Amino acid sequence: MYLKKIEVKGFKSFADRIELELDKGITGVVGPNGSGKSNISDAVRWVLGEQSAKSLRGGKMEDVIFAGTDIRKPLGYAEVAITIDNQDSMLPIDYSEVIIARRMYRSGESEYSINKVNCRLKDITELFMDTGVGREGYSIVGQGRIDEILSAKPEDRREIFEEAAGIVKYKTRKQESEKK
Ligand code: ATP
Ligand code: MG
Repeated sequence: MYLKKIEVKGFKSFADRIELELDKGITGVVGPNGSGKSNISDAVRWVLGEQSAKSLRGGKMEDVIFAGTDIRKPLGYAEVAITIDNQDSMLPIDYSEVIIARRMYRSGESEYSINKVNCRLKDITELFMDTGVGREGYSIVGQGRIDEILSAKPEDRREIFEEAAGIVKYKTRKQESEKK
């Protein structure tokens, strides 16, 4: 499984639709300060369901929508889609390519989809559970995250190992059945 494509429109500094094609292996993003490098990784976290504006370096969630410039009007919604190569079937879905998309309007309402079919955020969260990807996963390591892991409480650190070991799905199901 690897990230094949990132499409962004109206998200943070990306007013126009842009498309980034990635290859297998390592991709580096270079550019001057403030040119939008971190906004790309924010977009990936956001499409996977990030709910915290602060962790996307904003004050409120609306801040992810292109706010306009001196010469350009603000936009009404932000949209991100990522395409994942799933030829190794790491994602438990019968497609060799999986497109996850999110669109959010200024009203705060978000729409999610998997392969162009509307879905709930819960469906996306479940799809990525135990893969290490996803908003709680360890595949996106933000600044300060290493320090956070090293100084975390044992219970919190255990959660990271549980995700890596692939048992979060079973734990969540157990908790859900205990609630019923
Ligand atoms: P650095 O090298 O300093 O880490 P960077 O390339 O990671 O820089 P980003 O933090 O990704 O840069 O981009 C910051 C830019 O994004 C700023 O110029 C900021 O004005 C712009 N930006 C953030 N949110 C919005 C928004 N909602 N609308 C328009 N521009 C935005
Ligand atoms: Mg940055």
